[in-house]
Amino acid sequence: MSSKSEISSAVMQTYNRFPITATKGKDSFLWDESGKKYLDYTSGIATCNLGHVPDNVQQAISVQLEELWHCSNLYHIPSQEKLASMLTEYSCLDQVFFCNSGAEANEAAIKIAKKYAKDKGYHDRIEIVTFEQSFHGRTGSTMAATAQEKIHQGFTPLTKGFRYLPFNNKGSLSEIDNGKTSAVLLEVIQGEGGIHIADKDWLKQLSAICKDADILLIIDEIQTGIGRTGSLFAYEPYGIEPDVITVAKGLGSGFPIGAMLAKQHVAASFSPGTHGSTFGGNPIAATAGTATLKEIIKDGFLKNCNEVQDELFTQLKLIKEISPLIKDIRGKGYLIGIEVTNQASTWIEKLRDKQILVLPAGEKVVRILPPLTTTKEELQMCIQALKEVALELEEVTNG
Ligand SMILES: *Cc1c(COP(=O)(O)O)cnc(C)c1O
Repeated sequence: MSSKSEISSAVMQTYNRFPITATKGKDSFLWDESGKKYLDYTSGIATCNLGHVPDNVQQAISVQLEELWHCSNLYHIPSQEKLASMLTEYSCLDQVFFCNSGAEANEAAIKIAKKYAKDKGYHDRIEIVTFEQSFHGRTGSTMAATAQEKIHQGFTPLTKGFRYLPFNNKGSLSEIDNGKTSAVLLEVIQGEGGIHIADKDWLKQLSAICKDADILLIIDEIQTGIGRTGSLFAYEPYGIEPDVITVAKGLGSGFPIGAMLAKQHVAASFSPGTHGSTFGGNPIAATAGTATLKEIIKDGFLKNCNEVQDELFTQLKLIKEISPLIKDIRGKGYLIGIEVTNQASTWIEKLRDKQILVLPAGEKVVRILPPLTTTKEELQMCIQALKEVALELEEVTNG
């Protein structure tokens, strides 16, 4: 038995935290309790897409805070209706279910896929296909949907009904329509799994196979969505129309909100009583969502951030030329992975010493997630620090 005095924190140790106590954020910067200022290129894990405490979202929430915080989905909620119409206007989907996180959005997608198969009388379709290196969440079903051994360890028996196939693999395509598949769930750019981009032809073929067999195509846009990869949703440049997408992270600028969007014929499978969430799309969360989305869909917003981003990519490629420790630079928009030959954590620590915050995606990939509002000057700070770290680490290797 341990005594309370031996426990270092009353918070469960589910995260290896940076040695930083965060107390304040504004735009691209984060301050610790001693007042030290960091360039925050983690964006709260692809969440604060407009930077910390963006003015328009802050103002919108403040007004809502005076009016109504919560009433539950027993009532009509104007900001929720507004957010749903914006999300459907700017995507190929027709209706929205609101929840509070990414995992919950994927749980909703998994449930609707099961229900859709039942409603259509596809009684043998009891499997959902997901892909190796994927990440779909930490709850029971979403952990099982995540095809990564390390996520499953210690948590068997897993929820049944998932089948894993290799990502970007031609052979996988012929294995999808086996009579048992109700849906295919994937990220078009795998985030946590190491920044792997779906091949365009492969995804187009996959989409066509799904359409032909009435297998639902579910795109997990939780990390890639809300402008992160240069378009509002990452599926857009592929020229496909998914049946379902899930979003969360960037949607509320840091206020917790998740959503599952579906085409009308699929959405019809969720009738009253089939699914729900007490907090889902509550007035404050929905207000944070509408205010965030309004900024991102503004004329020129994404165009401008793509121009700034192009320069980042060019400069990162130049660093790769001079550093043998960098194996690959990949990603899209502001979801960028630098694959290194040593441990990603050594780069992350050294960058942190230079007051630049970035995060890992697996052991070998340094993930850079600037806010979409970052400036050229800030990007230059990050580039400069990366150059220095590349040289310092090379000296260590050679020395
Ligand atoms: C973060 C993430 C999730 C889980 O979201 P939570 O809000 O942490 O539950 C699911 N899928 C992807 C692609 C993610 O990046």
